[in-house]
Amino acid sequence: MAKTSFSCSACGASFSKWSGRCEGCGEWNTISEDKGLSSGPSKKSLGVKRGRTIPLSDLATRETPPPRACCGVGELDRVLGGGLVAASAILVGGDPGIGKSTLLLQAAARFAKAGVKTIYVSGEEASAQVRMRAQRLGLTDAPVQLAAETNLRDILTTLEAEKPQLAIIDSIQTMWSDHVDSAPGSVSQVRAAAHELTTFAKRNGVSIIMVGHVTKDGQIAGPRVVEHMVDTVLYFEGERGHQFRILRAVKNRFGPADEIGVFEMTGGGLAEVINPSALFLSERGEPSPGSVVFAGIEGTRPVLVEMQALIAPSPHSQPRRAVVGWDSSRLAMILAVLEARCGIPFAGLDVYLNVAGGMKISEPAADLAVAAALLSAREDMALPADTVVFGEISLSGALRPAPQTENRLKEAQKLGFTAAIAPGGSKTVSVNGLNLRKSSDLAGFVGEFFGAG
Ligand SMILES: [Zn+2]
Repeated sequence: MAKTSFSCSACGASFSKWSGRCEGCGEWNTISEDKGLSSGPSKKSLGVKRGRTIPLSDLATRETPPPRACCGVGELDRVLGGGLVAASAILVGGDPGIGKSTLLLQAAARFAKAGVKTIYVSGEEASAQVRMRAQRLGLTDAPVQLAAETNLRDILTTLEAEKPQLAIIDSIQTMWSDHVDSAPGSVSQVRAAAHELTTFAKRNGVSIIMVGHVTKDGQIAGPRVVEHMVDTVLYFEGERGHQFRILRAVKNRFGPADEIGVFEMTGGGLAEVINPSALFLSERGEPSPGSVVFAGIEGTRPVLVEMQALIAPSPHSQPRRAVVGWDSSRLAMILAVLEARCGIPFAGLDVYLNVAGGMKISEPAADLAVAAALLSAREDMALPADTVVFGEISLSGALRPAPQTENRLKEAQKLGFTAAIAPGGSKTVSVNGLNLRKSSDLAGFVGEFFGAG
């Protein structure tokens, strides 16, 4: 008898037995039994029948870089690594209702207008609904072909006959493959469908974009279970209360990962934001304690964002540590370093940290800006408003230089900042009109800018 296996619908981890909670991601009730393929691989060993010989090449063989198609939406083309690569599979994940279908319909229209033959298959909505959205977005003149279908076999047959260059599948969770005995949305179905589509993309030279909803419900598998199969994984992020959205490449075989594209939700759909720093800083008012501007790098591009901290005496025996847009364990580390190396305690104080505008920062170079925001809030002392801060903090309290110092400084200067605080080891670059001040360790930084330590 075949051994049964179980997998988690949230993170895709496999287990030999069922349990209520996934050890991989900690979610509850996400583990279910894998259903095998009803027409699985042959029982005979691979050695019985001979395959064909594979052509081999040496390391010096020159290959031309894959041709790319650009849609003209700069933010999208850049996140893709400089345009769409033929024969590639792309996953676009995100929370339901964040605007994935809107973005992809706009992208489909732009690619189609640029001469890329495009088919949009919706498993979520009827064609009429997609058409209505297209009308609202003013895209009806684009030569995109629509279909509302969930049967994968029929979809692949159609794609084979129509030979598009780009196919958009919205969403992977609604697709079902008839050789898998489980419901659409289950881990087995989602994996099988993604596998079929990826294989099809490679074999036929089609670019396939699959939409995947991030789900909280264990019955439906999330996009993470197929991340390893596709060439490119993009996540569409944003807070519902904010009008802007970020498309982030978390994996890209054809370009840099961590690249972001910034979009703004408007009445006419998603509009690209050419200068994200200006947008992220637009809500900034007078210099206030707890607010510090971080000169960051996202992918290949500098982005300035405001870090906001609030410190208040805690009424609880266990003070609160709340973080939005940054890593909470990283915050704990910064607080510990401030206490151990600079003698500044945060015991008995609630600490709130927020990255303004719904941006998520993962760069270690944000450490110093966070420390500055925390100190500024704690001492009730504002840093000069025209100053940006960046640099990594080590456990010893030393400051480590961040990469791309020059790009950070140039962006700051472009947006009217006149001073920057950076680690001592940073490359000396002179940017016109920008005063670069360096600190070699955290205690020195605290002493110089907050007069304590
Ligand atoms: Zn899991």
